[in-house]
Amino acid sequence: METRKILKSGEFLISEVDSKDIFIPEEFNEEQRMIAQTCTDFLEAEVYPNLVAVEKGDRELMKALLKKSGELGLLGISIPEEYGGFGQSFVTQMLVAEKTGAGSSFSVAYMAHCGIGTLPIMYYGNEDQRQRYVTKLATGEMIGAYCLTEPGAGSDANSGKTNARLSEDGKHYIINGQKMWITNAGFADLLVVFAKFGNDRVLSAFIVETASPGVVIGPDEHKMGIRGSSTAQIFFNDVKVPVENLLGKRGEGFRIALSILHMGRLKLGANVIGAARKAINDSVKYANERKQFGVLISTFGAIKHKLAEQVIRLFASESAVYRVSRDIDDLMEKLKTDCGDKGRASIEAISHYAVEAAILKVVGSEMLDFIADEAVQIHGGMGYSAEMDVERGYRDARINRIFEGTNEINRLLVSDTAMKRAMKGDFDLFGEAEKLYAILDDITDGRSEDETYYDKKIRYLGNFKKIILLCTHGAVKEFEKGLIYEQEVMNNITEMMMETYVSESLALRVKKIEEIKGSSPLCRDILDVNIYETAQLVRKSALDAIYSFASDDIAEKLVTATETLSKVDGVNLKNARRRIADKLIEDNEYRF
Ligand SMILES: Cc1cc2nc3c(=O)[nH]c(=O)nc-3n(C[C@H](O)[C@H](O)[C@H](O)COP(=O)(O)OP(=O)(O)OC[C@H]3O[C@@H](n4cnc5c(N)ncnc54)[C@H](O)[C@@H]3O)c2cc1C
Repeated sequence: METRKILKSGEFLISEVDSKDIFIPEEFNEEQRMIAQTCTDFLEAEVYPNLVAVEKGDRELMKALLKKSGELGLLGISIPEEYGGFGQSFVTQMLVAEKTGAGSSFSVAYMAHCGIGTLPIMYYGNEDQRQRYVTKLATGEMIGAYCLTEPGAGSDANSGKTNARLSEDGKHYIINGQKMWITNAGFADLLVVFAKFGNDRVLSAFIVETASPGVVIGPDEHKMGIRGSSTAQIFFNDVKVPVENLLGKRGEGFRIALSILHMGRLKLGANVIGAARKAINDSVKYANERKQFGVLISTFGAIKHKLAEQVIRLFASESAVYRVSRDIDDLMEKLKTDCGDKGRASIEAISHYAVEAAILKVVGSEMLDFIADEAVQIHGGMGYSAEMDVERGYRDARINRIFEGTNEINRLLVSDTAMKRAMKGDFDLFGEAEKLYAILDDITDGRSEDETYYDKKIRYLGNFKKIILLCTHGAVKEFEKGLIYEQEVMNNITEMMMETYVSESLALRVKKIEEIKGSSPLCRDILDVNIYETAQLVRKSALDAIYSFASDDIAEKLVTATETLSKVDGVNLKNARRRIADKLIEDNEYRF
């Protein structure tokens, strides 16, 4: 059997990948398509008719919707069969996250329950804890929530003040403290709570039943968006938690919290696709109905530009989401064989792809913000009316840049984690960079006469990676360990890494589509526009970084190399975007 090459997290920076080694959405099988359809049917039959009511604060109705989705098996997608779930692959889990993502507030409640509310126990719980709780969470008999954030501890999550101590009889831990911004707080039955023992440096994690005396739930926050999702403070006043409910070991809580956030970021990257697709569909439908100056607004070039750009960004994000999902599946399989425990193997594989998780989170949330914003704009004044779905979509989209680690924190994580993994020896980023530095005066763009369409794209992407290596190496040489405090430069490097990863995923997807289905000029249009834009973004980010860290003589050399390596052929962007928009306009929905 042919084995697939799986790269380590961040290794894409120094490696080439073959299109046959990535998974693309066009490869979903019949069963996956049926599961996806079940999600869509559920949203249409149960969620959309109830959105207004849940947005008015009907907590019980939201809980009932979650339970109903549980009856259809949608709460157990990520849970192995022995704990009452359906043990689906990570690709399928991401597909479900994508489809439910069109469900507005329901989607947030659903993702919080199935993800951060359930999976800490599945991944880190012992057999007894899994049997007592995961089996109930998988069916909706219990609804879960995740309590990490505190008034004084947000991004700096390990600085929380909630504390735990052992009771005198040694049978309970007594928890005191306050959590805030807790999704599903209003109706959750079970909480994963992070707290510190005495003067411990790091958090521990506990499973707490909401019915325990001393747990007090505050009223729901009044929020900008996702108003149907319950978000509240939770107070813990001498709450007695049986010692059997310590999750993992004492002091393991911070690791649990961070690992679960990697999972949350990946799923958010998929979830926003569903919301974005809905916004695009709303946009094109409106543009195909609304007339001004005697014609449909979808005939205007400026509107076509917006519609095409919405499509390009969504299609590119999808490519990255399913590429990494399959990598995770493969690593999970390998780790399951090695360690035997499905829960631990899953979270190890997910945590391994920390760089890509942060990329999906940032790219996905900003892709959705762009699409939701343009959806409002395409609707003109009507986009500002609370009667329209795009108004809700615009408000709901915004949270994605804030939770699961803010985008500022995740941007830092992308470049910092990649560099740390490289220093640990996972891949030779600095060795490759050193080689490039040695020939800095002689760098060429590597073009050759007989390049095919894809040879050229792969060369461009390879050149963008060289720019990243040069900037990373230059910045590390200049700032050494202090680079982490030069956040602006870190962000420049992250920007290049993110854009390049997404463009590469898109290029490999388009190549594979053509290998499977034959020529696809529209997919090439999407790729042409995307790579052209990525070249400009990489060039700008590189120059911004270089002028911020390099002395004059080396700056000049690095700038010259960047100009050479970011050179790409011109594209008739107007015509390419018009062709993409015309297909969307003709189909009257996103069907790419
Ligand atoms: C609707 C909603 C639902 C939520 N659900 C949950 C939940 O279920 N469970 C839970 O535990 N939490 C939840 N949260 C909390 C959420 O995860 C935090 O709000 C988030 O992590 C940011 O923390 P903060 O709000 O304290 O912002 P802060 O950490 O105070 O950040 C403020 C600003 O400073 C920036 N910043 C902070 N540190 C740095 C740094 N080192 N470098 C650069 N910039 C920095 C941030 O990016 C941000 O722009 C939810 C929040 C909301 C709004």
